[in-house]
Amino acid sequence: MEKGWNGLPYYSISDRYKSVFGAKVYKIPVAVVDDCPNRLGLKGMQTCSFCDVWGSAARSEAFELPLVEQINKYRDHIRNKFKAEKFLVYFQAYTNSFAKINDLEKNFKDALLCGQDIAGFVIGTRPDCLSMSLFKLWQHYHEQTYVSVELGIQSFYEDDLEFFRRGHKASESLHAIKRIKELTSVDLGIHLIFGSPYETDERIKESALICNELPITNVKLHNLHVLKNTALEVLYNKGEFTPISLDLYAHRVQIFLENLRPDIAIHRLSAFSSRYDELIAPAWTNNKMGTHQAIIDHLRRESSYQSRFYQPKTDSEILKIKDLAIQGLPKTSPESSLNLL
Ligand code: SF4
Repeated sequence: MEKGWNGLPYYSISDRYKSVFGAKVYKIPVAVVDDCPNRLGLKGMQTCSFCDVWGSAARSEAFELPLVEQINKYRDHIRNKFKAEKFLVYFQAYTNSFAKINDLEKNFKDALLCGQDIAGFVIGTRPDCLSMSLFKLWQHYHEQTYVSVELGIQSFYEDDLEFFRRGHKASESLHAIKRIKELTSVDLGIHLIFGSPYETDERIKESALICNELPITNVKLHNLHVLKNTALEVLYNKGEFTPISLDLYAHRVQIFLENLRPDIAIHRLSAFSSRYDELIAPAWTNNKMGTHQAIIDHLRRESSYQSRFYQPKTDSEILKIKDLAIQGLPKTSPESSLNLL
């Protein structure tokens, strides 16, 4: 029997936002940084094997506009299309801590001045681009608004990270998560990529178990896909990398969700290519809604749902999980409205 979160077999980030904000909240993706340590080749790093020229941003056309214009443009679009009531400004493209603190602060100030319906920020960054001044900045804004940080850790396994050419180790990811939670109260999430050549069912299960031990409130899942002009395209053309099928990907998502804590919200079940002409493979990544529905259908066929096999060991562990999740929320949020465990 499927466990339901508003009819879905998993706890979606929109459900979580409704609990936190009491309103329909959408993210406005913006681009304010145009580089990262990998792309600059710092310390011998290389561009991540899957990353295209847009730095994993969803909307390349926004790059030319000033921040406030980006927010106004996409806010109108999202409000009309989805009837959104509040918005989170999502600093998504490239590495959003890879800039001068004064510039980052100005971006936050400008974004908040865009209106009462701006409910906060979501900041995408890497585990190895953090500093004390950044933590102070995040914490300062956390006192005024909602601040969420999404760390692109991608995998807990070193061979995957090398294959992705991330340039950081899994231990650095865990250390970064620990430091962020020790030094700030921001909401914390991670990104994971499924589909590396080293991946196994057992690893996926273990990744969920690791997530359960972390003070995170959300996870974003991506399938590894091949874009034009990436290192992965070279491997693909040489026959040295084959993306996993949709069936296998859905199976891996199932294993992950079944072992995941019930209070960890899921941003989405897979990646999709927003620039259709840049996708090399697999073709199923181009069909955003079709892929989402295929994974949902798979979960339903298997009578599967998030946390199906998750077993908290003791009452104190449950309390600890609740405490960790609550710590990430803005001080203005009513804890009683949280939909945890
Ligand atoms: S994925 Fe992020 S860190 Fe990697 S090269 Fe692209 S922008 Fe840089």
